[in-house]
Parts: sequence; C-alpha cells; structure tokens
Amino acid sequence: MIDHQIRALLQKTKKVGLTSHKRPDGDAIGSVLGLGLALIDTGKEVQMVLRDGVSHTFKHLPGADLIKRAFKEECDLYIALDCSDLDRIGFTLEGRNFDLVIDHHITNEGFGIHNLVDADAVATCAILAERLPLWGFKIDTKIASVLLSGIISDSIGFRTSNTTSKSLRIAADLMDLGADISTLYNKALISRSFEAANYWGYGLERLTRQNGLVWTMLTLEDRMKAQYPGSDDADLTNILSSIEEIDIAVLFIEQSQDKVKVSWRARPGLNVAKLAADFNGGGHPAAAGAEIQGNMEEVKQKVLSSTRQYLERFESDLQSIEEGRTE
Ligand code: AMP
Ligand code: MN
Ligand code: MN
Repeated sequence: MIDHQIRALLQKTKKVGLTSHKRPDGDAIGSVLGLGLALIDTGKEVQMVLRDGVSHTFKHLPGADLIKRAFKEECDLYIALDCSDLDRIGFTLEGRNFDLVIDHHITNEGFGIHNLVDADAVATCAILAERLPLWGFKIDTKIASVLLSGIISDSIGFRTSNTTSKSLRIAADLMDLGADISTLYNKALISRSFEAANYWGYGLERLTRQNGLVWTMLTLEDRMKAQYPGSDDADLTNILSSIEEIDIAVLFIEQSQDKVKVSWRARPGLNVAKLAADFNGGGHPAAAGAEIQGNMEEVKQKVLSSTRQYLERFESDLQSIEEGRTE
C-alpha cells in the first residue's frame, strides 16, 4: 500500500485500534505507541492493546500507561504493527480482518487487508519514523522517543547486521526531534531488574556448547524461583548472542507443560528465519523465534536436531563451493 493511500485511510478514520505481538519487545511497544500518540495528537480515538501488556523495561516510555490488554470498544480501523502473522497477536478480532499491517519481518504473511512490509527496515519503528510525516503526522519529542527506543532495542543498540547508515540517520533525526538516546539506550538494553538478572542465572548455569551451537533453557520453575513477572526471556538471548565464535545460539523458554518458546540468534551469513518457519515461527535471518507444542525435552530434541542439521548442511555447501573454486 502506498503512502497517499495510507494517509487517506488514517485521515478518514475516527476510532483506531492498534496492536502488536504477544510478549512484546521494544519495537512492538514503540511502534504501537508511536503511531498511537500520533493519531491521538490529531484528535482520533485510539485504543492501544498488547495482550501481555508492557514489560517493566519499557514502562518509562511516554504513553505506556495507555496500553491495555484487550479492546474495550469496536473500532473503525484495526492496525497490527511489528507482527508477521495473526497467531502472534495472541487474540482475534472475532471474525474481522486487520485493515492494515505495518511490519519489517521477511516472513510476514500479509494477513492484513492492506500490508506495508519493508524487510530492509531495521525496525517497524524505523518505518514509522520515515513515514509518519508523509501520512500527515508531526513527530514530537514523545513520539521520537518511543520510536528511537524501538530502533535501539530491535537493532540491539545498532549491532545487528541489518543496521545501515540509513538506520543511523533515522536515529539521528529522532535525536534532533528531542529523543534522549543515552537514557533510552540504557533503559532498553542495559538496566535490568534484580529479578531479571536472577532469572538469567538459572539459564546461564545450564549453558551448553557443542561446536558452533550454544543453547540453554529457562523453565517455569526458574521463573517462579527468580520471581520474574514476565513470560519472556528477560533478554537472555542478547547475552547468548554475545558469546564469541558461535554460529547459532538457541534459548528455550518454557511457557506451559506442553508449550515452549524458542529463540534463535545467528551470526551474519546464516538464516535462522528458515529454521523458525519450519516450526511455524518466523523472524529475521539473524534473529528468529517460534512457539512449539510439546514438553521441554521433546521440543529441545527436535529443535536442536534440526538446527544441527542446518549447520551441517551449511558447512558442507560451503565446502563444495570452496572445492569448486580450487578445481
Ligand atoms: P525473539 O526470539 O522472540 O526475540 O524473536 C526474534 C525475532 O523472531 C523477532 O523479530 C520476532 O518478531 C520473531 N518471532 C519470534 N517468535 C515468533 C513467532 N512465534 N512467529 C513469528 N515470528 C516470531
Ligand atoms: Mn518485535
Ligand atoms: Mn521488530
């Protein structure tokens, strides 16, 4: 969908419903708030909904207290942000389709009536930072702050391989509009609750390495013992992905007796989105996830075996390319 059509769609609507994926990260929260605050500023009635609410890490963002866990009233227009498929939202619109999907996942299924998917964008917040002015909205300091927070968290502080000079320029423009990068950076990526750090400990204790593969898990019991309030990984994946000389890091986060959330992180050149897609998940080449039915042991076995196979195939493909070159 092109900018003037989105502009017309947003301008004519009175009541807008915005949402994103469950266990929302900084980009999910930032993009819902960024578009939500822009719409509120132009006099629209806006409901912002995230099934799992806002985690402690992002409670400081302007407008975070406006986000609810369910829609209270019917809207004219529903928009899903930073979400590649309907399942990940965690609830349905009772028979209605999403009118507009705005996202940057290469695995996006195009589940909206209209879809704006830019897989080159470092974050959904980066798409909004570029396009809100084209849609007739002004980016004030609050909006600039929530968008920069999303860009910082999805790019893990401009460290992911999809970070480009363009993403840095967008971030610089948001700083010029008043966003305080050092505070936002610290809140999004560095500062953690005692409970979160304690929760990491359980995962780090079980850290296992086999060749280029590193993995560990967080159980429901760990979550209880650490008194960690969320059902996410408290960003332990970022720590796993910082381990040197690793091809792929995998984290298993127990959700219930028969459901496990899996997060993959890969070094540049590999593509874990493909692996996640085999388990009905999705994501980006360097960072992907899936929610898999089964108990921890079953899921671990299946996922590790397919991840090992992928790495072996990758290595042997690489070898044949190199042999071909020397022949
Ligand atoms: P995570 O491992 O949850 O931090 O997610 C890494 C990337 O994969 C993010 O871009 C997510 O949006 C995406 N992702 C995670 N879980 C799923 C899922 N169940 N389905 C589709 N995409 C996912
Ligand atoms: Mn996200
Ligand atoms: Mn994102």
